[in-house]
Amino acid sequence: MKLKILVVDDERFILSLIKRTLVSMGYIDVETVETGYEAIERLSNGRKYDIVICDLCMPRLDGMEFIRVVNDARYIGGLIVLSGQDERILSSAVNLARKYKLNILGALGKPIERSKLENMIAGYEQKSRKATSASSCEISQQELQDGITAGESGPLEMFYQPKINIRSGAITGVEALARWQHPTRGLLPPYAFVSLAEELELIDSLTKVVFKKAVRQTMKWHQQGHPMVTSINFSVNSFSDPTLANFIFDVLNEFDVSPKYINIEVTETQAMNNETECIENLIRLRLNNFGLSIDDFGTGNSSLAQLKRIPFTELKIDREFVNCASGSKEAIAMLESTVNLAKKLGMQVVAEGAETKEDWDLVARLGCDFVQGYYCGRPMPTHEFEHFLTEWNSHNQIASSSDNLKIFV
Ligand code: C2E
Ligand code: MG
Ligand code: MG
Repeated sequence: MKLKILVVDDERFILSLIKRTLVSMGYIDVETVETGYEAIERLSNGRKYDIVICDLCMPRLDGMEFIRVVNDARYIGGLIVLSGQDERILSSAVNLARKYKLNILGALGKPIERSKLENMIAGYEQKSRKATSASSCEISQQELQDGITAGESGPLEMFYQPKINIRSGAITGVEALARWQHPTRGLLPPYAFVSLAEELELIDSLTKVVFKKAVRQTMKWHQQGHPMVTSINFSVNSFSDPTLANFIFDVLNEFDVSPKYINIEVTETQAMNNETECIENLIRLRLNNFGLSIDDFGTGNSSLAQLKRIPFTELKIDREFVNCASGSKEAIAMLESTVNLAKKLGMQVVAEGAETKEDWDLVARLGCDFVQGYYCGRPMPTHEFEHFLTEWNSHNQIASSSDNLKIFV
């Protein structure tokens, strides 16, 4: 990808070092400036930069002020912050920039690590490609309505991602993840239709189709001798409908699946509308032996306040805290204290988004119970998953360490 990059730092030596590094990585369109003011001038002159790399500590217009001004100027490219300060200052600055909804690619300490810089730019390129394809993958209101009305024989399809018991190494459960089979655009991921369904208040009907499909599949696995626990995603507001819990009980009766094999995963992607009703229904489900998972724990949608209000049985640590955590003391501390908190509350802990052996080893060492992530298995269509399950469990039943695991991805 041809990128235009602007580097801002008051130290000339650092500027030329970064420029040389970028050029050696193949990015030749690199401009450098020594002050935040010059950078702002170039940005407001309408010059389009894909990425800005900016030092946090500069005299006069410092990095934090620069970030605010850049935000006001509605800069939409990627931003990498740079600092010789300690890791926590750097990560707080990144969090603040995220709050501004800037496209933060990451934070680099000094001296600059080439591999980290490379990963951040690769992340930007990947996101840009996704954004281009995302704009072509949204579906229309009519398509959504018709597809949901078509029910189980419509375009909604389930993919299943293995959830692996870290101690035994066996696949004991799955997360059911919805996909939309579009006639011309192919298979679409949830971001193409879930939030649209929420906006149009079609999410309850969508969830019912997904739930029925996933429970039917769970019954089939049980009949085949796999006592799989299936996790199914719910938007929290769906629980404000008092008939939802009854629908859930009816489906379980129809397929003769016990509630202990179903985990209800909840995230607050929208604010809770009727809090009392939602909580009441969730408690009802818990009283009836359903598992309740707090999804994406640690992100803005999923917090300590929710832990207090709802009797969750499982905590899923968001992948933001798992992926590549082994390289950061701060990330390890956050993971460790989250695991300890969950244990003290008697909850099972799932690490989401383990992409490498290092991720797996870290979450295993810290005491997580389950792991889910690309390292051990991506979401797959049913047949592919069934094949994967047989292969995996026949090789990995008593793997007490990742060194003994046979990986199939
Ligand atoms: P989620 O419930 O947190 O599901 C996990 C997401 O993380 C999945 O994305 C999965 O493919 C992805 N993932 C798993 N392991 C890794 C990894 O190692 N690295 C990375 N980068 N990603 C990983 P997916 O399938 O795109 O789903 C996105 C979200 O859409 C889900 O997040 C869930 O919130 C929502 N969703 C999916 N299906 C449904 C549904 O049936 N109903 C509702 N309400 N929401 C759904
Ligand atoms: Mg989930
Ligand atoms: Mg999640």
